[in-house]
Amino acid sequence: MSLNLTQLIEQGVAGKRVLVRSDLNVPLEGTTITDDGRIRASVPTIKKLADAGAKVVVVAHLGRPKGEPDPAYSLAPVATRLGELLGAEVAFATDTVGDSATSVVGGLADGQVALLENVRFNAGETSKEDIERANFANELAALADAFVSDGFGVVHRKQASVYDVAKLLPSAEGDLVSTEIDVLKRLTETPERPYVVVLGGSKVSDKLGVIDNLLGKAEKLLIGGGMVFTFLKAQGYEVGESLLEEDQILTVLGYLERAEEIGVEILLPTDVVVADSFGDEESARVVPANAIPAESLGLDIGPESAAAYAAALEGAKTVFWNGPMGVFEQPAFAEGTRAVAQALTTIDGLSVVGGGDSAAAIRQLGFSDDQFGHISTGGGASLEYLEGKTLPGVAVLDEVTPIGGLG
Ligand code: ADP
Ligand code: MG
Repeated sequence: MSLNLTQLIEQGVAGKRVLVRSDLNVPLEGTTITDDGRIRASVPTIKKLADAGAKVVVVAHLGRPKGEPDPAYSLAPVATRLGELLGAEVAFATDTVGDSATSVVGGLADGQVALLENVRFNAGETSKEDIERANFANELAALADAFVSDGFGVVHRKQASVYDVAKLLPSAEGDLVSTEIDVLKRLTETPERPYVVVLGGSKVSDKLGVIDNLLGKAEKLLIGGGMVFTFLKAQGYEVGESLLEEDQILTVLGYLERAEEIGVEILLPTDVVVADSFGDEESARVVPANAIPAESLGLDIGPESAAAYAAALEGAKTVFWNGPMGVFEQPAFAEGTRAVAQALTTIDGLSVVGGGDSAAAIRQLGFSDDQFGHISTGGGASLEYLEGKTLPGVAVLDEVTPIGGLG
């Protein structure tokens, strides 16, 4: 068992430098943060440590820079927002492990918070070479006396600031990671029934593993988003220019057969909102799912399907939803996602929304976080857990037992 945050704090963190890996990977337009959900989710762990008198050193990534500094991916705007949410200024280091980081961390008073520049500005962070990651992790570890893993969105990655650094310092789970793991356990170990899973979004092959693992656990599986068209094609229908993963057709066919055998209902849309080209709202129209015109592409589930999905969710005691039903970013293709979100708000039981875009969708559509049981901050990590995989960034914490308190 890994240490939790409370147990770490009980060891006495006052005056100690605690490195916290957070997930602050927020959407930016220029330097404007368009959804600060992940920053808000990171605040409780940081605040708890600061209140206990720790010198809190936050490390995080933003986007996918190529292992070297790139101003477009600077965390500077995030430091400002984090400071606003904490109600105290956050010292920002303009590098991750260099002179700026050393001096900023060295200058922290007890209870103060610093944010290091984008950890992915360093090639060692995501290197496939164990030795390169270990070297970089050593530099990170030199900045701290203890490590707290709180970036749930990255615990499925074997990266230096997630995995390797945990081997070098006394390590604990942050509250965000603990909460996420608790919820995922409730979804996999003893879910209350009926249990309905809703899957959508654009990354079809990413989500097939979840179908594989949850097919035997849930009563119903509702399919939306880009995945729809691989299923429709597998059933022999034409899908025009819609998203399609030809190489997954056989896999999908296998799921349909297995579902039939074990009596699990897989719901597919019976109608689809199509357009002449991606994002062309002018041409949006509803067609039957088995008659998608060759020159069009499907961008949302249709109104009949949306109503059927809402009905299928009625009375569910456990719901896991990952992936928008359509291209919710545009009003003409957002109604399917809205219907599912609306149905989730009426669930008397556990409703979980996973995935960055799904969380953004419910906020954009005007729902508030507290209308749902739990909004997960980590799409990929939740999916890998639900696929039955081990999360390296959590497993590594189990291996480390701090002896005799913090040095
Ligand atoms: P999440 O981040 O919640 O896991 P994904 O990243 O898998 O979700 O997918 C989100 C994206 O899927 C959204 O940007 C949305 O526009 C897109 N999407 C949904 N339905 C379709 C569709 N039919 N065709 C193309 N893109 C779609
Ligand atoms: Mg996404």
